Amino acid sequence: MGTVPSALKHCLSYQHLLKEQLWIGEQAPPPPAAPHPGQESQASGLPAYIKIVEVGPRDGLQNEKVIVPTDIKIELINRLSKTGLPAIEVTSFVSSKWVPQMADHKEVMRGIERHPGVQYPVLTPNLHGFHAAIAAGATEVSVFGAASETFSKMNINCSIEESIEKFEDVAKSARNMNIPVRGYVSCALGCPYEGNIIPAKVAEVSKRLYSMGCYEISLGDTIGVGTPGSMKRMLEAVMKEIPLCALAVHCHDTYGQALANILTAIQHIPEHEKKYAKRQRGVLDGIDTSMNETIA
Ligand SMILES: [Zn+2]
Repeated sequence: MGTVPSALKHCLSYQHLLKEQLWIGEQAPPPPAAPHPGQESQASGLPAYIKIVEVGPRDGLQNEKVIVPTDIKIELINRLSKTGLPAIEVTSFVSSKWVPQMADHKEVMRGIERHPGVQYPVLTPNLHGFHAAIAAGATEVSVFGAASETFSKMNINCSIEESIEKFEDVAKSARNMNIPVRGYVSCALGCPYEGNIIPAKVAEVSKRLYSMGCYEISLGDTIGVGTPGSMKRMLEAVMKEIPLCALAVHCHDTYGQALANILTAIQHIPEHEKKYAKRQRGVLDGIDTSMNETIA
């Protein structure tokens, strides 16, 4: 907020100030009544409900250079649990050699207070990580692929095809144990090594993840280079392969475009779905939020 120009200040009487600046002398009026379901969507053209998947404890913290103490992570997750979020991604069962920040995954899983109605998914890159996660009490897991061959090799040390094979093992075991699996597609709007990624490639990888049983596919703008235009083109390609109700977006704010990109994604929700969005499985309902906007 900028400062009020002095000419304008002089126009405001004390009574006017009292009326406008409620904290000076009057009690705030009661908040307006909550809208009926669907009412908001009709008024604003936006859906009545958006599911937010908070990924800060994993995606945010893993970019911190200093190791965050385990009790601080647990406190962060416990506080997030009280905010009404439906899902909080708490940690990652990757090798501590690759991601030292997540080496305390077991302690974090065991230390958090789980709130009813809140999901606590964890990342599992392979069957080994999946079994470790389940042993630590995980009830939902995520696998993370990429639409860029080079990024896949640099980030998870295998080709896209090899990663899909590993995820299939995870998905199969998860299905047998009734554990929901969420899928990520990194570099959906650009890659730090390859530059542009064609939407057809994002659609192809997304389809593989969805076909193996991932209930939701989170399309990640990993380096934040997306724009409303590229988001639109990418979503239109993916929506040909996967129902909209199984899609989510994960937008990094590296160049200040995340909110515009998220809005573009939300605007793809058809009118009838906006009105009837359900709380648990919404429409384009996963918007991942992270405390950190650097490369994941
Ligand atoms: Zn991320």
